[in-house]
Amino acid sequence: MKESERIEKIIEVLKSEYHDAHCSLDFKNPFELLVATVLSAQCTDKRVNEVTPKLFQKFPSPEKMAKASIEELEKLIQSTGFFRNKAKSLLKASQSIVQDFHGKVPNEMNQLLKLGGVGRKTANVIMGNAFGKPDGVVVDTHVTRISRLLGLSKEKSAEKIERDLNRKIPEKFWVQFPHWLIAHGRAICVARRPQCLRCPLLELCPRKGLPKLKIQAPGYRMTPSGELVATSHAIALKKRKKKLRKIK
Ligand code: SF4
Repeated sequence: MKESERIEKIIEVLKSEYHDAHCSLDFKNPFELLVATVLSAQCTDKRVNEVTPKLFQKFPSPEKMAKASIEELEKLIQSTGFFRNKAKSLLKASQSIVQDFHGKVPNEMNQLLKLGGVGRKTANVIMGNAFGKPDGVVVDTHVTRISRLLGLSKEKSAEKIERDLNRKIPEKFWVQFPHWLIAHGRAICVARRPQCLRCPLLELCPRKGLPKLKIQAPGYRMTPSGELVATSHAIALKKRKKKLRKIK
């Protein structure tokens, strides 16, 4: 199978399995998404969604957050972890938005990257999910891990993986693709123990870096290309059962 066909099929499978996958951070505007994305580093989206209502009530705009005291910010976001650095980033980003962009989150990648405390991943999330004009595929830990397993990238750094994915994944899927992989990483391709035998991508996945799969499903074997097929014994048994049913 050609690589382009394989990627097309991977997209088809992911799309049908995780058609309702979306950004799981709660936000009402680009500023809220920016804040939530900064807080989501090394933290679950669920925890971030528990913290942000109170935070946005107190600081609903960049103007208000820019004037916050660092101690108060730290206290409000403490449970998301790494709260000292995150508070500094939020303060810096809010101050840049007020001073350099008239209080509005900019909708251009190069401008977003000028905001203090905003890296490429956060900027990519905002471009795709708040403004609907992605600049590339968002690469988080799930996307990094699963892209490598699927043989879509051999790289280790998020920037290089993004470059590979931007080249291979059609632009119209750039926003959805990471949401699909994140959903897949939570449901089946889990970090410590990917459930390959239950995975709808098994036939398309080279499982790069994983040990050879030991098939335990009775009546099935794996071909050298990684395809799961029924054994001839299982097929004969099935035919015999069918025949017996007809006789009865
Ligand atoms: S086959 Fe295994 S490694 Fe490949 S995507 Fe599925 S669960 Fe992950």
